[in-house]
Order: sequence, then structure tokens, then C-alpha cells
Amino acid sequence: MAIDFSISPELDELRLRVRDFVDTVVKPGEEKIGDDDDIERDEYLKILFEMRDEAKGAHLWLPHMPAEWGGMGLGHVEMAMVQAEAAKSYYGPWVMNCQAPDEGNMHTLLHWGTDEQKRIYLKKLCDGHLMSCFAMTEPEVAGSDPTLIRTHAYQDGDEWVINGHKWFISNAARASFAILIARTEEDPDLPQAANSAFIVDIPSEGWERVREIETMHGGTGHSEIVITDLRVPADRMLGGRGQGHMLGQYRLGPARLAHCMRWIAQAETALDMMVDRSLDRFSHGSLLAEKQGVQWMIADSTMELYQAKLMVLHAAYRIDRGLDFKSEVSMAKHFVANALNRIIDRSIQVHGALGYSTDTPLAHMYQHARWARFADGADEIHQMRIAQRTIAAYTDEGSTRRATGDLPI
Ligand SMILES: Cc1cc2nc3c(=O)[nH]c(=O)nc-3n(C[C@H](O)[C@H](O)[C@H](O)COP(=O)(O)OP(=O)(O)OC[C@H]3O[C@@H](n4cnc5c(N)ncnc54)[C@H](O)[C@@H]3O)c2cc1C
Repeated sequence: MAIDFSISPELDELRLRVRDFVDTVVKPGEEKIGDDDDIERDEYLKILFEMRDEAKGAHLWLPHMPAEWGGMGLGHVEMAMVQAEAAKSYYGPWVMNCQAPDEGNMHTLLHWGTDEQKRIYLKKLCDGHLMSCFAMTEPEVAGSDPTLIRTHAYQDGDEWVINGHKWFISNAARASFAILIARTEEDPDLPQAANSAFIVDIPSEGWERVREIETMHGGTGHSEIVITDLRVPADRMLGGRGQGHMLGQYRLGPARLAHCMRWIAQAETALDMMVDRSLDRFSHGSLLAEKQGVQWMIADSTMELYQAKLMVLHAAYRIDRGLDFKSEVSMAKHFVANALNRIIDRSIQVHGALGYSTDTPLAHMYQHARWARFADGADEIHQMRIAQRTIAAYTDEGSTRRATGDLPI
């Protein structure tokens, strides 16, 4: 029997070490920061970077990167366990330098970067000396369909000249460079081969951050960028001409799953809180935990979290084994994003007015969770692809079995 859900003593020890680190270092740091609108910027950065130093000292740094880049060299199944512990605190992944979008950018540079690009950008990102952003989405066209991208680059000698408009670029205000997607090919054979990726230093003349976008969870570092005659040296193209879409897809698969791993941590926190509150709150002659209506909310959340964990572990297993993982990551991303929203919502319900207040983290978690259903592939896009693969499996093989995780049952 090859199917085995036990883990090695070393991995179990690592999982518990991350949990302990988050409890004893990151959560106290998070408490000191409090509401980051109220804390002085210098003090805020001091607390964050002290935690990063502690993470390095505890060898809990860059879990997703190979050892030669200063990382822990973990595979995706192992990462699922680390991220699900790290993201119990909002700052956990950042402290361990495995947060979006830097994590995805590191994978992209590692896979596609030239030696020179790795030396200049990847090395510093791994050392924690700088941050990065990924600039693809545009206000004028549907982000769900990157073949519509209008930001345009043309070659002028040994430079590319780029004009366009991006928005919702996370981290752009703090980033030292961007991976920017722009159209370089006018009539490619495949519409997906129109875009290329560029590494853009920030600041650069022609890269103008025109505003920070206020969102339903406040102002959080998502920027709108106007790009005017931005000149990028030819050797800053990342990957080849027309490979921007492929590179984005390569990046997004594991990056989507990494989001799911962090969402599992958030969903588990919400479920823990739901049960804790139900064991403490008394109404109409019994505890909430004894009410069938509340038990149903707990049961539904428990089943969904269980499904979420299995889906993420299976998709991670397929990536680690070099198997095709597109369907499994797509299904996991859709399911976990929706389960997260439902579980937080139920937890707020069980908390009543307290859940709606900002006295618990639930309100903040709920505001953050909403974007999960449309960013990195909207629900409907994943459903469209899942359905296409299911129909193709049936058409090819007379059975939908291949599309349901290709499991041996
Ligand atoms: C918090 C946050 C952070 C982000 N960070 C980044 C970042 O760092 N870099 C970056 O480039 N982008 C970023 N984005 C943008 C994000 O990737 C896009 O929002 C996402 O790709 C969807 O694009 P859109 O917003 O243009 O929605 P649209 O593409 O306009 O889609 C809107 C809705 O239309 C529906 N829809 C669209 N197409 C179809 C279809 N074919 N079939 C059925 N329904 C459809 C879906 O319901 C979808 O939610 C971020 C967004 C948020 C909210």
C-alpha cells in the first residue's frame, strides 16, 4: 500500500517548530504592531525586520527555496504544512519570506531568470533585502483574460519601450522591482503568445505610481501605475518573446496553491473561534454548542475544512511528483476560497455582534477573504476550465474519472 498520510518525524518537528515560532515570536510582534495605521512607520519596520532576523536565526527562512539560495528546500506537500502554520498570523509568511507576491516571483526568477537576473534580483529577494511586485492586471480590460492586455512594448535598439496602465499591483509601493507583463507580438499564431515579461527597476523614469487603491479592507498597498515611455534594457526581458502568458501560468499554479495553504490556516482559526465561542455562550437554557442549528454550522465547516486539506495535499503531491496539476490546483483554489468565505461567515454568525466588531480578528479576515473568489482566477474561470477538462476526459475515455483527481477509486 503506497498511500500513506503519516509524516516523517523531521517534518512533524518542523511543523511544530513553525507553530511555536508563530506563537512565541510572530503573534506577540503582531500584537505590538496592533492596527498598522496607528503605529509609527519606523517602529513598524523595526518590529517586522527583528522578526525576520529571528526567523533566519531559527532556520525558518525561505521554506520554498532550494538550499543554494539560502532556503529550506521544501517540496509542495511540506510547504502545505509550513504555510498552514505560518499563516495563523497575518505576518507569519512575510516574516519567513514566503509571502505573495515575492514567493511566486522567486519561483519565476529561479525557473526563467538568466544567471545575471538571478544574481541581481533573486539573490536580494532571497536575502530579504528587497521586495517585488507582479504587474499584469489593467483597469480597461478583463484581468481574467490576459490575451486582452493592452500595455504595449516595442523594441528600440537594445531597449524596450513600454506604455500602458496597470492596477491592483500589490506591494508596488514597497517594491524595488516589478515583473511586468506587456504585449510585444501583434499577430501571434496563438493569442496566448502575445505577451512578454520584463523586469522593471523601481523607481524608473516612466513608471508612475498614481495612487494607492482603497479597498474594502482599507488601504493595503495595491497601486495603480501609469507607464509612459518606460525604457527597459533588452536583457531585462524575463523568459523569451511571447512567453509572458506561459510564465504567468507557470507562476500561478503553485502560487494559487500557496494561497490555499494560507487560507486553510485562516479557516482553521475561524473554526477554532466558532467552537470556542459556542462552548462559552449561553442562550435559551443551553450553550450554543448544544444547539442543533449551531452544530450544523460547526459540522459543515469541519467537513469543508477537511475537504480543503485533502484537496491541497493531493494537488501538492501531484506537483511534487511532476504530474499534471492544473485541474487539481484549479479545483482546490475554487473550493478553498469559497470554503474560507463560508467558514468565516459562520464564525461571525456564531459570535453575533462580537463577530461583526473589530474586537476579534474575524471582521478583518472576512474583508480579506472576499478577494480570494475572483483574484488569481475568478471562480467562474476555474469552473469553466474544470468543466472543459471533465468533458474532455469523458470524450477521450468514456469516463469522467480522470477529471476527478485521477484517483485510484
Ligand atoms: C487584493 C487584490 C490583489 C491583487 N494583486 C494583484 C497583483 O499583485 N498583480 C496583478 O496583476 N493583479 C492583481 N490583482 C488583480 C486580480 O488578479 C484580478 O482582479 C483578477 O485577475 C480578475 O480580473 P478583473 O478584476 O479585471 O475582473 P474581470 O476579469 O473583469 O472579471 C470580473 C468577473 O467577471 C466574471 N467573469 C470574467 N470572465 C468570465 C468568463 N470567461 N466566464 C464567466 N465569468 C467571467 C467573474 O465573475 C469575474 O469575477 C489583485 C486583486 C485584488 C483584489
